[in-house]
Amino acid sequence: MGLGLSFFLMLLMPGDLRPEKMHELSVTQSILEIALDYGTRHQAQKISEIHLHIGEISDFDDEWIQRYFDFVSKGTIAEGAKLRISRTPARLQCNPCSFIFPLDKSTWNTQCPSCDSKDCHLISGREFRVEALEVI
Ligand SMILES: [Zn+2]
Repeated sequence: MGLGLSFFLMLLMPGDLRPEKMHELSVTQSILEIALDYGTRHQAQKISEIHLHIGEISDFDDEWIQRYFDFVSKGTIAEGAKLRISRTPARLQCNPCSFIFPLDKSTWNTQCPSCDSKDCHLISGREFRVEALEVI
């Protein structure tokens, strides 16, 4: 019997543009904790898939996240679960004029194309979100 469950959970949302290395292992452990907590509360026998949204400038490699996950989930109901990862594009918003524009990752230019202000902040692109689980 299959049961699809969907939920939305913000795990990490650093507002800072500076690239900063987060540890894959601690992040995968957090994913596992969220999945197990949810699965246990819904009497799941097995978690088969975990859908993740990761910002495109987060320094995570899909393959490594899966490898770490396989390692930390051994012996739990999430063992063998497949991680489905989608990437969220990076966008900036200008503080003075509220203009929203995509981040050009070749230049890392953060100047507003509308008013030339450099007072802009990142509104997406570094998030890490557990979006849905498939459980049995
Ligand atoms: Zn502007």
